[in-house]
Amino acid sequence: MRKCPHCGEPVEAGQETCFACGQPVRVRKRRARSPVNALLLVVAGAIIGLALTSLVVARTRAARKHAAEIKKRELARVQDSVRQANQAREDSVRSIANTAQEVGELNSEINREEQRFKTTYEGATKGRPSPEQVRLAGVAQDEIVRLRQLVRALGATVRESERRQIRADIKAAQGRLSEVISELGSVPRQKSRAGGEGKPELKPKDKESSGKPPSGRRPHQKDR
Ligand SMILES: [Zn+2]
Repeated sequence: MRKCPHCGEPVEAGQETCFACGQPVRVRKRRARSPVNALLLVVAGAIIGLALTSLVVARTRAARKHAAEIKKRELARVQDSVRQANQAREDSVRSIANTAQEVGELNSEINREEQRFKTTYEGATKGRPSPEQVRLAGVAQDEIVRLRQLVRALGATVRESERRQIRADIKAAQGRLSEVISELGSVPRQKSRAGGEGKPELKPKDKESSGKPPSGRRPHQKDR
């Protein structure tokens, strides 16, 4: 409680003159102004509070939006990597299927060449191979073994650069085998000592078979 500045008597709040000494009790100007100040403060506080609130809300919204954006981007990245993994798996499956087909075709080619070798050998030797025919047959059999190994290696190799090399090796071996078989057909067989079977029909037949490319032979069509 305030006191009168003149006599020291207690003065009530809002009192303008002292009841004891009758002197005016000075009311501080500040007191009159303070409600306005308080109101101003309240209004200013409210404005600042509102501004802060809206700022916080805006920032929260922005942060949420940013987080959503990041999540969206993250999801897109995951989906993309999943798609890439699927693509890679499909590619690998297709590559395996292609390789299986290639290996199957090569094996068929080798089987056909091996059959041609056997037919040529039997036709050329008639059970009496000369040393040269035996040697050529050995070379042909080695090439067939080598070809089968190369085709197996091709099916087991993943790297395209190595496969290209293996394909080149296969092609070269096929060429050598084809040459050896043709040569085998043209080499004269062992001369028959018994003389019972020694008909001269073999020689022109041999020449004919060796003079033609192996793929172009169609004996059945010719016979008809
Ligand atoms: Zn007084």
